[in-house]
Amino acid sequence: MSGATSVLGCRVDACGVDEAVARILELARGDVPASVITLGTEMVVRARRDPSFRSALNASALSLCDTVGVLYAARARGLHLEGRVTGIDLLDPLCAALAREGLAVYLLGAKGDTAARAGAALAARHPGLRIAGARDGYFGPAQDDEAAATIRASGARVLLVGLGSPRQELWVADHLAKTGALVGIGVGGSFDVLAGNVERAPEVWRRLNVEWLYRLMKEPWRWRRQLALPAFVLLALQERLTAGRGSSTA
Ligand code: UDP
Repeated sequence: MSGATSVLGCRVDACGVDEAVARILELARGDVPASVITLGTEMVVRARRDPSFRSALNASALSLCDTVGVLYAARARGLHLEGRVTGIDLLDPLCAALAREGLAVYLLGAKGDTAARAGAALAARHPGLRIAGARDGYFGPAQDDEAAATIRASGARVLLVGLGSPRQELWVADHLAKTGALVGIGVGGSFDVLAGNVERAPEVWRRLNVEWLYRLMKEPWRWRRQLALPAFVLLALQERLTAGRGSSTA
């Protein structure tokens, strides 16, 4: 991995999909539980006002760039990034590698049997992939320990967590060690896409970095969440101006 930068206090690693898969395999074969995050604009804005969330993000072994806002801000700070690495982009190459290596994966999150169907879709695409188990993400704190124990009993090495942010990153920070998995990866709404509940933006929208706009059109109730983008742009500009002033007086 060729470096990292900080965007508004959150670390972003210069890491593409292939490198991320290699690093995750290395972590999964290790003996210290580690988290992988897919860093989005909304998460960075939240981390500004929530230091414990920021600590959970920065304690990750790998911080991948999930959104166009984070991509441009990281590039403006000199980080060489080919593009975004979203949870859904990561899952296919990762599962191909896990199938080759015989490492079992557990899917935690989303409604009803969505995680189980997402696991079945991944297993169909990657023969030999070991799905250790799946569970929905609608349980309260009273069931956290039981969920962790079930994952431990499943023998999973890699835990995919689709509980939405910030819950998924906080869940991994608080419970990964209890699950026995060596890597916990926040994957947002990926299970919904894999299970066919939600359609992903067509390739051309993604290439033009306007997947967020497609999502807003399909799910207009998300507009309030997407207000994080203008807030992020303002904060990032402010940070650059302050940094510029700092360096001119240094
Ligand atoms: N989710 C969950 N438990 C909750 C809240 C959300 O399992 O308590 C799931 C939700 O069903 C969805 C995912 O978390 O599958 C988050 O999706 P969203 O599109 O909000 O996440 P994003 O990809 O934008 O982070």
